[in-house]
Amino acid sequence: MAATETTLQELSEQERKERGEQLRRDGIVIRTYDLWKTYVMGDQEIHAVSGVDIEIKRGEYVAIMGPSGSGKSTLMNLIGCLDTPTKGLYYLNGKLVSDMDDDELARIRNKEIGFVFQTFNLLARATALHNVELPLIYAGVPSHERLERARRALRAVDLEQRMLHKPNELSGGQRQRVAIARALVNNPSILLADEPTGALDSHTGQEIMGLFERLHNEGNTIVLVTHEPDIAAHAHRIIHIRDGKVERDEALTRH
Ligand code: ADP
Ligand code: MG
Repeated sequence: MAATETTLQELSEQERKERGEQLRRDGIVIRTYDLWKTYVMGDQEIHAVSGVDIEIKRGEYVAIMGPSGSGKSTLMNLIGCLDTPTKGLYYLNGKLVSDMDDDELARIRNKEIGFVFQTFNLLARATALHNVELPLIYAGVPSHERLERARRALRAVDLEQRMLHKPNELSGGQRQRVAIARALVNNPSILLADEPTGALDSHTGQEIMGLFERLHNEGNTIVLVTHEPDIAAHAHRIIHIRDGKVERDEALTRH
């Protein structure tokens, strides 16, 4: 399965394209080949991600788990098209994103990725509805359609009745649900959540994990990044990361 570095470098443009088309036909949303991210600090090289091969299929619910400093955020930034790898290939939904420039990455990111962050990252002065509408404004969707889709996304997270509230008029759990609606409104290929319960009390955190389970059952592909085993245990598969490498890939069959 793991192509060697030499063969990767040797692939022609046509072969790379065909590989992407094959991945897409096989329903593989995320595929990395020997992915590296190296930081240079003075005369020291830090391999934050070192030779990662990951394959995630459409509809999977996967946690990426590892201790602090293991490379989770770096890997998430690569998967989320927020950063480019030092080396290796990354296909997102059949497209080779590891070769893209910043403009192309931004476009792909808006279309394919729904982000959920620990601190919600909502606009404080805007209503829940407007927060959810924003990605559609960037995507150039006409206003009547925007409104309808934003309402539908808020309905999917049980917040339609609160749609005219601003973030400071909502609880932490409700704010995170607005953020999840915003992440989903563009019908992204993956929902990428970085410690989504990190700022919530444990009861509210459980509610949010319940919502992820439902969204998974509705067909969404979810990638959850966390250092907490209790949170990772909600996923159906755990990719354990240590020192920038995949240490273990664990299927949770009890679900
Ligand atoms: P995690 O999210 O699992 O805590 P990170 O991906 O943040 O891990 O970091 C992995 C390693 O890479 C750490 O050793 C960290 O110090 C280093 N690192 C992360 N970002 C940078 C950066 N911008 N410059 C230099 N080193 C970095
Ligand atoms: Mg981190």
